[in-house]
Amino acid sequence: MGLLIWLDGKLVDESQAMVSVFDHGLLYGDGVFEGIRVYGGRIFEFQAHLKRLYESAKVIRLVIPMTPEELAQATEQTVKANNISDGYIRLVITRGKGALGINPFTCGRAGVIIIASTIQLYPPEMYEKGMKVISAVTTSNHPMTMPAQVKSLNYLNNILAKIEASDANVSESIMYNQQGYVSEASADNIFIVRDGVLYSPSIQAGSLEGVTRSVVIKLAKKMGIPFAERNLTRFDLYVADEFFLTGTAAEVIAVVDIDGRTVGSGKPGPITGTLRKAFFDYANGNTNY
Ligand code: PMP
Repeated sequence: MGLLIWLDGKLVDESQAMVSVFDHGLLYGDGVFEGIRVYGGRIFEFQAHLKRLYESAKVIRLVIPMTPEELAQATEQTVKANNISDGYIRLVITRGKGALGINPFTCGRAGVIIIASTIQLYPPEMYEKGMKVISAVTTSNHPMTMPAQVKSLNYLNNILAKIEASDANVSESIMYNQQGYVSEASADNIFIVRDGVLYSPSIQAGSLEGVTRSVVIKLAKKMGIPFAERNLTRFDLYVADEFFLTGTAAEVIAVVDIDGRTVGSGKPGPITGTLRKAFFDYANGNTNY
């Protein structure tokens, strides 16, 4: 027996969890999704993830055929059925089966898929030593195209940036918007530290509004670490004292080299370490925050 997958109202073995070749999720990348962590049996920041999912669906005129409460319940059930206490959930809403043209209104009911499993994005030593990144040539989406805030099933723009990283033999690439300001990494948000101040680009610079990012900002504020949202350029990244990425799967990971420039001492910095520790304390239910 493999994983039990929630598929349109039923838990089925992964070998039986199939979608139609006429689903517009497959034909056009038409749909939305979420990636969510489970820490110590609790679904982390579940309400924030559900809000983002329903907002993403609203923007693309996709009706999720369950209320947020029903979807939350189905998610809890799927997590339990797979005995996941520390893991990763993928919620996927596809446009559903339709005609071969792109018109989404030919599709019937949207498809709902819930996967509860585990994830290890980077090897453990990378969290100790930090990662190398490059600047991507591929820019983040212009706000008048598919907004970067929508977590859609069409990730090709980010995938192109990820391919650039892979070609350069590094783990991630940094994306810039069409004005040349830093937006996000291919699947993570960005922070730097300079002269004791923590900075992150605003969401309007062209990124997903990361749940991990919001938690890190909240923790930094509580701990008295000065924080500001600011437009950042390549210069700011090159001269940063510390640099780290945040994301549900990546959690908090230091960057120690960008485009051949060593960041700070070349090792994960102290504020990065403090925030990483605070993040795990918070995720595991430490109520000091
Ligand atoms: N940006 C992109 C493009 C992402 O796909 C993700 C999620 N992996 C993030 C940022 C980080 O968001 P979150 O912290 O909510 O996972």
